[in-house]
Amino acid sequence: MDDREYLPLSWLSQAEYCLRRAALLLNERIWMENEETAKGRFEHSRVHDRRVERRGDSLKLYEYTVFSKSLGIWGKCDCIEAGRCAQGCRIKAAEFPVELYPIEYKHGSVREERSYLLQLCAQAMCLEEMFHTKIPAGALFFISAHRRLDVSFDDQLRKDVTAQAAALRKLWDEQSIPPAEYGPKCKRCSIQTYCMPKTRSSAKEYCKKLAKEAMEVETV
Ligand code: SF4
Repeated sequence: MDDREYLPLSWLSQAEYCLRRAALLLNERIWMENEETAKGRFEHSRVHDRRVERRGDSLKLYEYTVFSKSLGIWGKCDCIEAGRCAQGCRIKAAEFPVELYPIEYKHGSVREERSYLLQLCAQAMCLEEMFHTKIPAGALFFISAHRRLDVSFDDQLRKDVTAQAAALRKLWDEQSIPPAEYGPKCKRCSIQTYCMPKTRSSAKEYCKKLAKEAMEVETV
């Protein structure tokens, strides 16, 4: 697979939230900020600083780029804890074998959203492929609440990551946009005005339809 075709890992969580949202972001390249997304980006920007911290036999790698050829995705881990472990893997930053433990930073109240779990598990699966290791667990860290939530990467979560990566790939390959399904999730969606979920077509699709109708009128 060509490097340029790797899809952003963070969009797995967009796909979990709403497949149409993921398709609009991916295929129509739109992004609209709302209060939720702006707050999230601000809190995230404070922790986004690529560096390695060492303390004895443990390291913390911040802003670490990961990818998976088999899943066709790439992204960044906010933080990876790497502690000495005889059965662990070798990474460049450590002179000894380490066990890896990815941590994803989140804003807002402490909650175990499926989309968060998918994103974190996808990071772990990328690391497993890159370093030929096993990563059984990671954590979500809620910045404002200063709370850490441990997450176990079970078989079902791994299957869901693989399925969402395949769904994203299909949307991308076909350049398709699924129809809108209006629901409670739309109220919090930053691209609602673009998506127009009650009309079931996006602004771009709607303009295309109007242009087509205009052409038909001209040719009558
Ligand atoms: S407005 Fe609703 S249907 Fe449209 S992208 Fe957002 S969540 Fe999906």
